[in-house]
Amino acid sequence: MERSLNFDNKKPLLYLVATPIGNLEEMSPRALSVLKEVDLIACEDTRMTAKLLSFFNISKPLVSLREHNEVSEAKNVVEKILKGSKVAYVSDAGYPCISDPGAKLVQIALENDINVSTISGPSAFINALVASGLNSDHFYFHGFLSAKQSERKAELEELSNLKTTIIFYESPHRIKKTLEDMLCVLGNRKMTLARELTKKHEEYIRSDIKSISELDENTLIGEMVLVVEGKKNDDVKIDESQIKNEVDELVKKGLSSKDAIKLISEKYKLNKNLVYKIYLN
Ligand code: SAM
Repeated sequence: MERSLNFDNKKPLLYLVATPIGNLEEMSPRALSVLKEVDLIACEDTRMTAKLLSFFNISKPLVSLREHNEVSEAKNVVEKILKGSKVAYVSDAGYPCISDPGAKLVQIALENDINVSTISGPSAFINALVASGLNSDHFYFHGFLSAKQSERKAELEELSNLKTTIIFYESPHRIKKTLEDMLCVLGNRKMTLARELTKKHEEYIRSDIKSISELDENTLIGEMVLVVEGKKNDDVKIDESQIKNEVDELVKKGLSSKDAIKLISEKYKLNKNLVYKIYLN
């Protein structure tokens, strides 16, 4: 073990700078002074960062360090720091390394005896959690679920026994499907959907998974965070095969599939479209 202070200038230092998640007034004076002071800014997307810097009249050389080139570019950046350059890393929004690139850069910097310091700022999941109305004493941040339904359901299955609040990032394109999968795997729990945080159209929808899954998709737009209550002892999971069997049974008894789906959706207090999808699968 070796101990070293970040600000005694004995070792080179890499700054990770958090940036606004939609409201430029949240750029902190400290973040600005660090970005003005460094020789080079490594960033996720040079166009995004150039816009941010130009708003604050800062002009600095930029280098792109993103998912597809993270390791090779991290090595170049670390070499520059070792030769004496002062470097900061920023992602497109919020904290680097939080569902964003940066973790490999941090790892390679630490392996090369470079200290790392974070300049605080906003992160979407913290804003969403603290105003969600759900338990914020203990929480688990999951970030994005897989885009593939089978993998997404498997991930949810793994999370289904957590008693802590669970936080997800999600895109508006997938929100409906994700909510339906959550309803099936986690059961109907309290949840808050927080969207467009810090922006003009910021909205918190505090309800439960089922009710939010039934909202008009066209109103669930923009960037969003899902904050879901942890497992309660009385959570009732939806057993898809049981639902399908029960609809099948009713159809065999002579009911139309429409009526059978209606009955079963009423019995389990589920959305008819969801029961229909389960029935078709
Ligand atoms: N690094 C960022 C952070 O610290 O929050 C997260 C970056 S991740 C690529 C982008 C996702 O974060 C979005 O898809 C959304 O789920 C969430 N997000 C970012 N900004 C947001 C905002 N203003 N309101 C709600 N969610 C936001």
